[in-house]
Amino acid sequence: MEKVRCRIAPSPTGQDLHIGNVYTALINYVFTLQNKGRFIVRIEDTDRARIVAGSEKRILSSLEWFGIKHDEGPDIGGPFSPYRQSERLKLYADHAEILIRKGYAYYCFCTPADLEKMRALRIKEGKPPLYDGRCRKIDARVWRDRIKKEKYVIRLKVPEKGRTVFNDVIRGEISFENRLLDDQVLLKSDGFPTYHLAVVVDDHLMKITHIIRAEEWISSTPKHVLLYGFFGWPLPIIAHGPVLRNPDKSKLSKRKNPVWASWYREKGFLPEAILNYLALMGWSHPDGIDIFSILEFIKKFRLEDLKPVGPAFDLKKLEWLNGEYIRRTPNSKLKSQIWEFYDKLYPADLIDKTVPLIKERIKILSDYRPLCRFFFKEPKEYEIDLSLHKNLLKEIAQLLGNLNNWQADNIGDLMQNLARKLKIKNADFFMILRVAVTGQKITPPLNESMEILGKKVVLSRIKKASL
Ligand code: GLU
Repeated sequence: MEKVRCRIAPSPTGQDLHIGNVYTALINYVFTLQNKGRFIVRIEDTDRARIVAGSEKRILSSLEWFGIKHDEGPDIGGPFSPYRQSERLKLYADHAEILIRKGYAYYCFCTPADLEKMRALRIKEGKPPLYDGRCRKIDARVWRDRIKKEKYVIRLKVPEKGRTVFNDVIRGEISFENRLLDDQVLLKSDGFPTYHLAVVVDDHLMKITHIIRAEEWISSTPKHVLLYGFFGWPLPIIAHGPVLRNPDKSKLSKRKNPVWASWYREKGFLPEAILNYLALMGWSHPDGIDIFSILEFIKKFRLEDLKPVGPAFDLKKLEWLNGEYIRRTPNSKLKSQIWEFYDKLYPADLIDKTVPLIKERIKILSDYRPLCRFFFKEPKEYEIDLSLHKNLLKEIAQLLGNLNNWQADNIGDLMQNLARKLKIKNADFFMILRVAVTGQKITPPLNESMEILGKKVVLSRIKKASL
């Protein structure tokens, strides 16, 4: 049996790794691990105009953050180096020439203005706006001469009749009418290949056995299938998984959802929770459970069970799941996660003490600061007007000042007794005290928070609020 080799082939044309690509990476990675194969990262950077500086680096660092490890790639090399398409230009040019020689591709000398005119005319005539193939007819003697003097591209000679058919592991047989396929540009006038030529040449030369990618690439696949056939290469196994969608079913887009891996990281989502959530995008656990580890996913997932369409990507559900992961994280680990999330800015021992108070209350790590800010900083403002409660605060300060055993329970008993004595509703009483001590209306449990803050700090804050 041939060794399984899978790949992801991100283009460094966005800020970072797109969450849709994280999904594709996850499926490829898991499938590779199941088959003891190799997982390859190839950077498809041939669209020079769209390249974003720093994108490749961030893509690789995001994969690492998710724990999705590759066996070959631009950063670590491998037997089929280089893994960056811009460093493989000669290969594509050579392969375009092979197709010319075999009669499966041709030189096209049409200018952008010619193409624009042609398109407009075809649309007017009610024809699909494809290239009309006019340069196919140029005689070899003529093009040999013209390529020395003129700008050209190399186009795929799509058969005029018949159908191109392939089998998709997830979707079954998919068939396209050749007359509706464009004579795709394979090599551009600047010598760079288009995606279609480069992806086929590389997948073949890198011995990729399974191409697993999202649905959005289905319409490109017949062109690739033709190319494999023209080169005389065996077709890899092909699977198009679901594309991530907004709730209105449109493809996940920047306008409706955050799409960059770095956004999720900066918000304090946990990588394991994201991967768990993504696993549910096109697959369900046979026991119907929603929360499972990647190891469990590796054990139970089967590529052929992937659904062609998944549920909408729902940020609220992901947040809920992330909260569940936080609750399952051991306190000591959660403490370091929060500490590191805030760039080690806050004293670790204080975070340590507060973690048990907030563990049930936060969904993402960035929920921590708004809840716990007051542990690290004296409040500057109060979320309710305390001016009417100054006498009450003075009385509280006096009572607490006499308390010797500074523990949450004792503080709580003392305060409740006072509220009862003064006939103030518990909720009102504690809201005043809470705001006086923390500045905030929403905090972790107050008595425990006061215990952590310590008697001195609490008294000084209450006194200040009563001035
Ligand atoms: N470069 C393509 C992308 O940006 C790769 C598509 C494929 O997997 O063939 O996702």
